[in-house]
Amino acid sequence: MTSYSIWVMEYAHVPEQATSLFIYGAHNQGHRKMPYGYIVIKGQGRIAMVDVGYNHRAYGAVLAETYGVRNWQPPRTILGECGVSPEDVSTVFITHAHFDHMGNTEDFPNATFYIQERELSKWVWSMSLERRFRWLMLGIDPADILRTVDLARQGRLVSVDGDREGVLPGIDLRAAFDTHTWGSMYVTVRNDLTPNSADTWVFAGDLVYAHENLRGMDPNDPQYVPVGLATGSQFTLIMTAEEMVKRAGGDHTRVIPVHEERLKDLFPSRITKAGLRITELALAHGEPSLVR
Ligand SMILES: [Zn+2]
Repeated sequence: MTSYSIWVMEYAHVPEQATSLFIYGAHNQGHRKMPYGYIVIKGQGRIAMVDVGYNHRAYGAVLAETYGVRNWQPPRTILGECGVSPEDVSTVFITHAHFDHMGNTEDFPNATFYIQERELSKWVWSMSLERRFRWLMLGIDPADILRTVDLARQGRLVSVDGDREGVLPGIDLRAAFDTHTWGSMYVTVRNDLTPNSADTWVFAGDLVYAHENLRGMDPNDPQYVPVGLATGSQFTLIMTAEEMVKRAGGDHTRVIPVHEERLKDLFPSRITKAGLRITELALAHGEPSLVR
């Protein structure tokens, strides 16, 4: 029995993003649309999310302008499409600290946030380095890091060291240290709640940007190709890709990258009035479809 309804919610996008960001070494391969999104998981009497997006003001807006982000919409608008409000969200899993994933914790006043301890502590360390190391801070808003530390002061942060299984029924956190970032993690949902579920989803954060990271460029000769941005190692990204596909029962289409526009070719979806896409991955028993 399907326990959770799951949607990928686009909240903004970059119309023209260099393909070389998605795929390591893919130079001279033009541009493609890059949606920014987060995951809403509804079931077992609660609302959980994977990542929260950024807030289009202060330095978050500056970064967004730098990266060519368009059509940002606030969580109240986006979650309204699912019939929930930001106040309803009780649990958030932060895959990593880049501004477009962790920048809007303040819009979820009732949520408890999970993050890898290494992700937080190493960004604090990175912030303290001299100016010539600033490349390491690409995509990081220091104010996001401070807000997340403050969540700990408020008793709303769970700082995880490595894997944690069953953080909610059927939901596991998996560490992927020194990959896309210092302490990235991915989230698996075993949607029938069994230990070795055949109905498992893997929410990849930015360990995967595009299908090519899991399949390569040649459909007749698949290979893993890392994302084009890593503060850690390409080797660890490749090995994590293999681990994620295995946890998804060998089905690479169940490893979900929020930045992949072509999820629409695999799953039912629609465009909202705000011009953003809702992609429906799963429906719990009795839950009406949001896209049909
Ligand atoms: Zn990232």
